[in-house]
Amino acid sequence: MSAAPTTVQSGVVVGIYYTLRDAQGNEIDSNKKGGKPLAFLVGAGNILPGLEKALIGKSKGDVVKAEVPPAEGYGEPKDELLEAVPRSAFPPDIDLKPGMQFQGNTQDGRAFPVKVAKVEGDQVTIDKNHPLAGQTLFFEVTISGVRAATAEETQHGHPHGPGGHHH
Ligand code: ZN
Repeated sequence: MSAAPTTVQSGVVVGIYYTLRDAQGNEIDSNKKGGKPLAFLVGAGNILPGLEKALIGKSKGDVVKAEVPPAEGYGEPKDELLEAVPRSAFPPDIDLKPGMQFQGNTQDGRAFPVKVAKVEGDQVTIDKNHPLAGQTLFFEVTISGVRAATAEETQHGHPHGPGGHHH
């Protein structure tokens, strides 16, 4: 039996409260207001690589500020994720404008966000890039817990229980 882990390292389960802001300081996302901590398994690709890297070696209770560039976040926007679709693919009663967001579905039924980039007559250009692609992300994280992963969690590649994966 090895000692319980006290620092963030590969293979342990970490719980965090975080606030994500953009470069202008606008809050994009947070689980600090009454939410459960987000749990992730270190080294399993559960969270953004740049955020995970900033947390390595930290302990429960530590407050970590992480600046995550696009390359370690959601990547740079890619032109090949711009796609022209017919106007008829959208509900007819909507006044389509650049910046509007819709939800698309892949052939296997997974939902992904779609943003209208351009409207020209009967042709609409949609942008399937992640909404945060190309952005530097500013995280403020409080580490709420560090614990050993169970054998099952290690096998699945994600944590179970509060804040983790439910089957
Ligand atoms: Zn699982």
